[in-house]
Amino acid sequence: MSAAFLQVEGLKVSYGHIEAVKGIDLQLHEGQITTLVGANGAGKSTTLLALSGLVKKAAGRVTLQGQDLSALPPHKIVSAGMVQVAEGRATLTTLTVRENLELGAYTRRDGRAQRMDDLERIYALFPRLKERADGLAGNLSGGEQQMLAIGRALMAKPRVLLLDEPSMGLAPIIVQDIFRTLREINKGGLTIFLVEQNVRQALKIADRAYVIETGRIVLEGSGQELLRDPKVQDAYLGG
Ligand code: ATP
Repeated sequence: MSAAFLQVEGLKVSYGHIEAVKGIDLQLHEGQITTLVGANGAGKSTTLLALSGLVKKAAGRVTLQGQDLSALPPHKIVSAGMVQVAEGRATLTTLTVRENLELGAYTRRDGRAQRMDDLERIYALFPRLKERADGLAGNLSGGEQQMLAIGRALMAKPRVLLLDEPSMGLAPIIVQDIFRTLREINKGGLTIFLVEQNVRQALKIADRAYVIETGRIVLEGSGQELLRDPKVQDAYLGG
């Protein structure tokens, strides 16, 4: 197996006196989909926010290909290649779809030609976004807004893409579509870290998976192993 691409060691996060994340270790391997699953309030979103630098770490170290990101501010973490997909409905509704995508590239230093190439690649992944390129993002459906949020993050040219519950609030058929697209993006070589309450779907597409309960990792394995694990089946898959 490849060496860890993203390494998280001893991560702790507290909100006042509530310890939401209690010292967790995670490893992401290059080119894989890794998922962190767990119930409501287990500490999934907090873990992602800490990786993105959006909440303060009480302890722990985060390294991406050996570069220590632990103390960097959020924009430097994005520039280093770790990019979190915004919550679907956080697209800028008064801008067009194309403008939203172009904004995703604001941290890049390369030329317009490369950005246009990437825009075309994103339109190929999400034909609906191409059809609606000149329409306002606010007129998109929930699923389309989630696709736009993913597309906008891809425009930052991430080395690792972080997603917080992309399935939230979407109809099952749309969820299937989003997950299929994530797998396609991953097949193109992008490393993905997916946080989900939709445990079944997340484990199905994941190479590696971690289960978090009240701020601690309680199980880890391949996605397939955890799908078959009786404890996971009882607690998260309805037996
Ligand atoms: P969900 O899927 O509901 O977002 P989660 O697994 O992502 O759940 P977190 O949102 O990370 O869980 O929450 C972990 C713990 O931290 C919970 O006990 C939650 O109540 C608490 N918490 C989260 N955000 C805050 C905050 N801003 N202030 C205080 N406590 C918080």
